[in-house]
Amino acid sequence: MLLHAIYHRPKGNFAYAYDKDTIHIRLQTAKDDVKRCYVIFGDKYDWENQRSIKFMTNLYSDELFDYWQAEIVPYNRRLCYMFKLESDDEQYWYTEYGFHDSQPSYVNIMFEYPFLHEVDIFTPPNWVKDAIFYQIFPERFANGDISNDPELVEEWGNTPTRDNFFGGDIRGIIDNINHLENLGINALYLTPIFEANTNHKYDTKDYMKIDPHFGDIDTLKELVSKCHDRGIRVVLDAVFNHCGYYFAPFQDVLKKGSKSRYWDWFYIHDYPIKKSPRPNYATFAFEYHMPKFNTSNPEVKEYLLDVARFWIEEVDIDGWRLDVANEVDHAFWREFRQVVKTAKPDAYILGEVWHDAAPWLQGDQFDGVMNYPFTNLAIEFFCKQSIDAKEFANCLNKFMFRYPHQANQVLLNILDSHDTKRLLTQCKGNKKLFKLAVLFQMTYIGVPCIYYGDEIGMVGGDDPDCRRTMIWDKARQDKELLEFYRDCIALRKEHVVLRRGDCKFVYASGSQVVMKRYTDYDQLLIAFNVSDKWASIDIPMEKGKIYNIKLAPYGYKIINLKDVRSEKQCTAQSHI
Ligand code: CA
Repeated sequence: MLLHAIYHRPKGNFAYAYDKDTIHIRLQTAKDDVKRCYVIFGDKYDWENQRSIKFMTNLYSDELFDYWQAEIVPYNRRLCYMFKLESDDEQYWYTEYGFHDSQPSYVNIMFEYPFLHEVDIFTPPNWVKDAIFYQIFPERFANGDISNDPELVEEWGNTPTRDNFFGGDIRGIIDNINHLENLGINALYLTPIFEANTNHKYDTKDYMKIDPHFGDIDTLKELVSKCHDRGIRVVLDAVFNHCGYYFAPFQDVLKKGSKSRYWDWFYIHDYPIKKSPRPNYATFAFEYHMPKFNTSNPEVKEYLLDVARFWIEEVDIDGWRLDVANEVDHAFWREFRQVVKTAKPDAYILGEVWHDAAPWLQGDQFDGVMNYPFTNLAIEFFCKQSIDAKEFANCLNKFMFRYPHQANQVLLNILDSHDTKRLLTQCKGNKKLFKLAVLFQMTYIGVPCIYYGDEIGMVGGDDPDCRRTMIWDKARQDKELLEFYRDCIALRKEHVVLRRGDCKFVYASGSQVVMKRYTDYDQLLIAFNVSDKWASIDIPMEKGKIYNIKLAPYGYKIINLKDVRSEKQCTAQSHI
């Protein structure tokens, strides 16, 4: 047994409370090394009488490791435990102190999850598991009110540049709510809508005011209320890492220097303030027009937390997406969560974190993050075919153990966004590949999010090209893709197992991957063939049976295993 590879740590993503009764215990071992794993657990205050053993399941594997999990219901909410590991010719007991040849009985050397407190359980809002998001870049979605247009608007359909405007607004979203409803989405994420000078609005000037080019608070109230009437939730973008250059407190600092009462709201290194060659104050990246907030200053904290509360209480929004969330301090986000969840207990808190987000996903800060690793892997496998199915599945499997299961269920799975090339462009216009990627997004664990216009076949390179104006001319919309999106969304809505079930790859080799989504009651297989040739795949089933799937070039199949079983039963009966 390769003991070097064996890893466990209590609390965090290897031992966490899933619900008020259950603790998930996880273990990593070398791939294909350990045959059986058990958790021996009990109450340390009554080890003699209150003690059990539970078999662990090998949930996932990647190229190097097997990942095991057991769902444990502790006695009296207290848990002390050790592992028993078996291979064909060896067995070990594994405790906090290391490996043992025989079963230890001294409870103080065991791993411990001291007490399952309900208040500590990471509980993302339930509705998010059922959500299908649609992301809107408001300046480019629809112009519903020409009276609020900026001066010098471009004609709708012209090429977007870094700084041109097209006049899109909140009224435009309200006017097109039928498009969203017919598509089947049930949640909206809007990039920033507060007053700012740029077209993307990530340089906020006034957090308490809707950008006049987009509308006002009443237009936003109307949008949220009309969305709610149709079962669509609304999440707004909070840019709390930095403000805009024209944010009044920063302007005050520019004017008064260290005498400004806002001096300590920012990180000013030197005075007079310089914008170039690089700003002499902290900013987002080196963007002089985005001064970074000092979020440990109590006044800044109070101001931003008021903003977070205000839009929930006044307009009834359903959550916040947090821009550059990983560059803001954890202490701020902990208070932010308290404020937001007090204002609306089931509000969704979604962080923009492009890398491993485990420190933010422990239940005290965010509910979910934008799942860019998912984006990258899906594009590499489906669109570019630069990795094979094995690498694709291995890497997704590895990531499944980075976060608690409840976080995996509410990660925002995007295939593109206002910050990336559009999906169809990544696929070089190949709609067959595009569809495979979309079907994967709609059937994988986590929350799918459609970037506006993808559903009608819009293309676009890196920003600003991915921010083109929405095509509303029906003759220029891709009806086939629109129909495909509707079908995928309907499929996800129809099968609770796609929204709530577990997820496992049952086949991954070459250009074919087959994923199983399952609960105790349902099982769906979703098979993908990312190749221009026919494929025939054998899937091992219960009792040594084999199920064969034939896939057309660039084909896919969704198989309900209930139907497979009943099909077999029917065949058996017809023989009788
Ligand atoms: Ca307008």
